[in-house]
Formats: sequence, structure tokens, C-alpha cells
Amino acid sequence: MTGALLYDPVVAPVHVRAWIDLDDGHRVAYVDPRRFGTAHLLHGTPSRDAYLDQRLGAEPMTPEFTVDYLRTLARGVRAPIKAFVLDQRRIAGVGNIYADEALHRARIHPLRPAGRISTAQLAALRDAIEDALRAGIEAKGATIDDFRHVDGAAGSFQDRFLVHRREGEPCPTCATVVKKLVVAGRGTYVCEHCQPRPRRRRL
Ligand SMILES: [Zn+2]
Repeated sequence: MTGALLYDPVVAPVHVRAWIDLDDGHRVAYVDPRRFGTAHLLHGTPSRDAYLDQRLGAEPMTPEFTVDYLRTLARGVRAPIKAFVLDQRRIAGVGNIYADEALHRARIHPLRPAGRISTAQLAALRDAIEDALRAGIEAKGATIDDFRHVDGAAGSFQDRFLVHRREGEPCPTCATVVKKLVVAGRGTYVCEHCQPRPRRRRL
């Protein structure tokens, strides 16, 4: 992801698209070098909640993000689990990096159809998503291109990736070479020993 929200930046950053003045006198800069972002002005909490409810699924680390929630949503879904995890209407806030890292931790191949994953594995995936996000938050995010933490610091999570962007390197768990695939249109990194490829079903 590119772009950032910066809280009281000391120096006005380049590519600021909007300044948000807070009631307490502080300012937040919305920085978007590639101009992919959009902004929406919503009046009041009910309209904000309605807007988000339409667009976002359960958020990890909240009581709604349960195995039952995932199991209900995944039932009958033929799309690969990676696409399922990236779909913000199902799970809010998981991007490409965290999807790869979580699937590796849960030992699930990104091409597995979402509807064919067992409840036990969905439970592992739920925990793995939260673990990967927690590790990213501790490292202040991953600075690959120009991401910055809200205080302007660069993140260091990229130094702790297990598989993401590690094509050709040994898997930290089993030393098998990490492969790069394209799943759901996104560069996807996988250890096919830890995360066995789904078997083709016989006709
Ligand atoms: Zn491995």
C-alpha cells in the first residue's frame, strides 16, 4: 500500500492531498503519492456506521471475528482462500502482505477453495490473521515503497516476513524454496511444503 495519514508532521510532506484539522488543534495530513485514495465526508456517527457496514466485514481483533463468522461466509465459496481473505466485505483490513503471512502461519495454500477449508483450519487462519497483524503493528508496519507510520517513522515488518516477497529464499520453517504465484491478481508467496497445494478433484 502507498499513502499515509501523518499526525502533526514536523515538515509538510510532499503529496499531501488533504489536511484534517482536529478539534484539539492537532492536524492530520493525508498523503497519497499515487492518487489512488478517495475521501468521503460523512455527517455524524450513524451515517459513518452505515457507510462502513455496507463496505466492511468483521474486523480482526473484535468479538465479531469468530470461527463461526468465517465458516458461515466461506460455505460454498469456490474462490481461492487468498481472494476470500483479501475481500474487505468479508474481512476488514487485511491486505496482500498480511494475507500471505497469515496463510503461511495457518499452513493453508492460497489457492485452496475457501469453501473446502475445515473448521479447524479456519480456526487456525483466524488466529494467524490476528498474529500477523499484531506482528505488523509491533513493527510499525512494513515500509516497502513509501509507507510511513502515523508518526512518520518507517516500519520494519518487511524484515520479519516469513514468505511475502521472499521468492527463491528458504522457508524459515522447513527451508523449502519460497515460490511466487499470482492469486486474485496479486503477487502471492507460498511455501508449498508447509502449505500443500490443493489436489485436483477427479471428474
Ligand atoms: Zn515451509
